Amino acid sequence: MTALVWFTRDLRLHDHPALCAAFDGHELVVPVFCLDDRLLGGRHASGPRTAFMLECLHDLDGGLGDRGSGLVVLHDAPERALAELAARTGATEVYCSADSGPYARARAGRVRAALEREGARLREEPGLHAVDDLEQLRSAEGTPYRVFTPFHRRWLEEPRRPILPAPDRLPAPARLAQAPSLDALGLESSVADPMRGGEREARRRLERLLDGPVRAYADRNDVPGEDGTSRLSPYLHFGCVSAREVEERLPRGRGAAAFRRQLAWRDFYHQLLRHHPDSARHELQPRYRGMRWSDDRELFAAWCDGRTGYPLVDAGMRQLRREGWMHNRVRLVVGSFLTKDLGIDWRWGERWFMRWLVDGDQANNNGNWQWIASVGADPQPAYRRIYNPARHQERFDADGVYVRRYVSELREVPDAFLAEPWRMPADVQAECGCVIGRDYPAPVVDHAEARRAALARYEAPGAR
Ligand code: FAD
Repeated sequence: MTALVWFTRDLRLHDHPALCAAFDGHELVVPVFCLDDRLLGGRHASGPRTAFMLECLHDLDGGLGDRGSGLVVLHDAPERALAELAARTGATEVYCSADSGPYARARAGRVRAALEREGARLREEPGLHAVDDLEQLRSAEGTPYRVFTPFHRRWLEEPRRPILPAPDRLPAPARLAQAPSLDALGLESSVADPMRGGEREARRRLERLLDGPVRAYADRNDVPGEDGTSRLSPYLHFGCVSAREVEERLPRGRGAAAFRRQLAWRDFYHQLLRHHPDSARHELQPRYRGMRWSDDRELFAAWCDGRTGYPLVDAGMRQLRREGWMHNRVRLVVGSFLTKDLGIDWRWGERWFMRWLVDGDQANNNGNWQWIASVGADPQPAYRRIYNPARHQERFDADGVYVRRYVSELREVPDAFLAEPWRMPADVQAECGCVIGRDYPAPVVDHAEARRAALARYEAPGAR
């Protein structure tokens, strides 16, 4: 008996329930991945993320090869590709990891229907989240959670399944249909300093985290100039390592508890999108659905390019372009700046992030954008989330390590002026070779004024 394992964003061999379930009861298992143009060229198309994903596929193929198998990569819509492959191989069952996003769920429905026409069945297994069945996590009244804190309490109580080892051998008559290059897909990575994709790299990063940084996580994770976080996000997004395994291997202690809480945020946003698929395009809070956002393209371009005159914002936006990744604290600051200081639609920021982030994930990105724009799951009023970029910089990048790394014009600016370089006297500007308005932009808005305007906007969301 033959089964297919349809890989999606679970590109690993360790702790893979769908892969293990397929091997339990089938002599031959064909691992397959479908390159889907609707995703590659859709509204969240991204060269950097696709480049990362192709590396993951090559790595997965290598891991399968070491075990006597190989990945079949088909470039077609999965409902067509899988039905044809099932018919060709005589497979009666196709295993995959259950996904919660609106696109993934609709796609699974199409695949299921197409397979049924061929007399085959789709079997969905857990594996994408720390908690297997996010549906189970409901309040005492039986409703899904919209607020993180009670969700987190319930999440901590939910029993977990044991993690699964990677299979030793995978007997399969598979032939690799070579994954195309980025060029062939009509995309380019354009990130100067990208992370390497794949399960091997994910496991190396996990070991590094467990070796030390996780213990200091609670104290250091907000310092963007340090390597105080795991940088596992793209690997978790593509499933190069399972969130369940990461959680299982955490030590005891305050740092690990703080880290584990971040995994809960990930599950929280995935269940939120599952229960509110409309929030993929609209504000979760109905009160803000008529909000009048600015459509100032020049200000938006300044934000995208890291030319706002606010060093921490500019450093973050340049890190995004250089690495396809940005530190979480800085994501919050640039998100607050776009939506509150510039009054620009959070969806513009969401789209820009999806274009560049290697960890770009619809649920996490949308949920976090709505959170920082104060239109989503955050129960706090908007004024609590209007971040002052200069104060944040003084607090989290006091020595300027992060800002100087990404904003070369500011390297020689004295510490005392680094958060607000426009306050430098003219002679200091000349001395450090950073003349405001010539070498580095003057601030595109005045934060105090922008804050007042934002408060008025949130007070009366429909007014001009
Ligand atoms: P660590 O601090 O090491 O955390 C471990 C893991 O926990 C992360 O890898 C991630 O999977 C999860 N996690 C941490 N923080 C969050 C969070 N706030 N929400 C959900 N999961 C979290 N994360 C994405 O994975 N994809 C996105 O597209 C994304 N977009 C974001 C957009 C905005 C505006 C903001 C404010 C945050 C966004 N995040 C997103 C969340 C967070 O910034 C990243 O997960 C984190 O910076 C990744 O770095 P890390 O792996 O070193 O995180």
